[in-house]
Amino acid sequence: MRTPLVLGNWKQNGSLATIADYAAEMAKQALPTTVEAGICPPALYVAAAINALKETKLAVGSQDCSEYSGGAFTGEINAAMISDMGCGYALVGHSERREMFGDTNARVADKFIAVKATDVTPVLCIGESLQDRESEKTFDVVGAQLRAVLEKTGEEGFIGGVIAYEPVWAIGTGLTASPEQAQEVHEFIRGVLAEFGETLKNSTRLLYGGSVNKDNARALFEKPDIDGGLIGGASLKVNDFAAVIQAA
Ligand code: 13P
Repeated sequence: MRTPLVLGNWKQNGSLATIADYAAEMAKQALPTTVEAGICPPALYVAAAINALKETKLAVGSQDCSEYSGGAFTGEINAAMISDMGCGYALVGHSERREMFGDTNARVADKFIAVKATDVTPVLCIGESLQDRESEKTFDVVGAQLRAVLEKTGEEGFIGGVIAYEPVWAIGTGLTASPEQAQEVHEFIRGVLAEFGETLKNSTRLLYGGSVNKDNARALFEKPDIDGGLIGGASLKVNDFAAVIQAA
């Protein structure tokens, strides 16, 4: 019922040359028609990526979105621009933005709402730090990150949005959450969604992110509440990313 989704987050990586090579290689891959997939390159390369990936099944997304609709906000990109360029998705609330660029729960909620007002699918990233997990605050932290958005949007304003659960301790560390650990939090997230509506609970796609690779993807995606992945490092390599998409 929920179409699997696999997104690659390129973070601050890539160049015109790597995008051209990547697209040429990706066009040779037999990707499943039952899975939605895309990459989020640095914003400056969105246009080049959309053009290069035309012959592939991959969509293109933005790594972030301004909460403002336009004006004197140097360096920012708004949701209308992301839609205008033809992006299918926009990440909001990635832990690197929360940790290093001061994105608060309130700001992330505004970013989500800004994206949701367009035809672009917002992907809300949430997840606990190692310290949170060790002090048994995982559900408190993840619940607060999620409720900060849901309390502003309600069920209607959230439906169609995607959630990516990315435990911070698993990002770029090679320490992936076990399928059981990930499923436990995904089930909790679905429980929070249920507080806002049954349709929201049943229709929202929940992605797992954090050191997903071609070898561990299948066991994660087999879990009942995991509907795909948000992939960092492994999305930069065509063969690895194609294998992850095939596992969904
Ligand atoms: P890695 O897959 O490199 O751990 O990164 C995950 C991530 O942050 C995707 O947004």
